[in-house]
Amino acid sequence: MKIDGRCLCGLITYEAEIDQSKISLCHCTDCQINSGSAFRIATLVGKDDFRLLTGKLKSYIKIAQSGARRALSFCPECGTHIHGSDAENAQTYSLRMSTARQIRELTPSIQIWRRSALGWLSGLDTRVKLDEQQPMPR
Ligand SMILES: [Zn+2]
Ligand SMILES: [Zn+2]
Repeated sequence: MKIDGRCLCGLITYEAEIDQSKISLCHCTDCQINSGSAFRIATLVGKDDFRLLTGKLKSYIKIAQSGARRALSFCPECGTHIHGSDAENAQTYSLRMSTARQIRELTPSIQIWRRSALGWLSGLDTRVKLDEQQPMPR
């Protein structure tokens, strides 16, 4: 499936060819911190199936417990995460799917690091549900 996406400020744009049956959701604590959210949604894309159209990514090198060096790449302007890859010899990118325009059509089929998943996710419900943002109190 062909997708396209962008960062929040629009500096970074890309297109990619993905396998929509292989969308994964990662609950690891690094993904929680790095995404600022409950989990990260990603899929692996071969380097030839990803094309950066505009902008230049900045990378943070994360050293995993195994010693593996991962480049976590993001927009240098707004900080939106675009992909993760091997720091030295990237053959695949773990593309961050929330940046894709087609995100609503992409349903994750795998969850990893379930042991770090936030407990309230399974029955996610809140007392208040607003279709848009709450008006700011004055
Ligand atoms: Zn940006
Ligand atoms: Zn993770």
